[in-house]
Amino acid sequence: MSEGVIDLRRLDLAPGAGARADVDVPLDPITLGGQRYEPEPPEVDARIDVASSGSGLGLRLRFAASLRGPCQRCLAPSALDVVVDAREFQASGRGEADEPDEDLDCEYLSGPTRMELDVAAWARDAVAEVLPMSVLCREECAGLCARCGADLNAGPCDCTDDEGDPRWAALAELRERLGGDEGAPE
Ligand SMILES: [Zn+2]
Ligand SMILES: [Zn+2]
Repeated sequence: MSEGVIDLRRLDLAPGAGARADVDVPLDPITLGGQRYEPEPPEVDARIDVASSGSGLGLRLRFAASLRGPCQRCLAPSALDVVVDAREFQASGRGEADEPDEDLDCEYLSGPTRMELDVAAWARDAVAEVLPMSVLCREECAGLCARCGADLNAGPCDCTDDEGDPRWAALAELRERLGGDEGAPE
């Protein structure tokens, strides 16, 4: 069985009983707004609760994760914290041969008796459901100047000033002396 999959038969579930398992689940990097966010650490400590009843299995997955990537306004390293609390249901008496039914079957279970839980796939989908619209280093991030690229969190740039910023002028002069991108110093 691949990493991130647990066999619920190992939990020794008697009807009417519950079981709990704490598992390390590998989390995939996610893409949001064209930027890539890496889970840190790459595995999360997840808790799985399984409640067995006559009608089937109630499954609950809980974990907290932190994803690292750029602020979508200023590109500064930022963290995106998510808390997952997801539930699934699997009706009893269902097998692999049965046509999957979204009301009866949990899509993350497979195997002859549908007892192999793909926690990694469930975790990935559950994270996608709780993602915010955007990732910012802080709520009031001022972003970058669209014209000169300056980080406006450090203060206003001088784009409106026709004289230009003396610091940029000095940099341009230095670049000229060094021969620009071609790099042909004397
Ligand atoms: Zn920012
Ligand atoms: Zn500017």
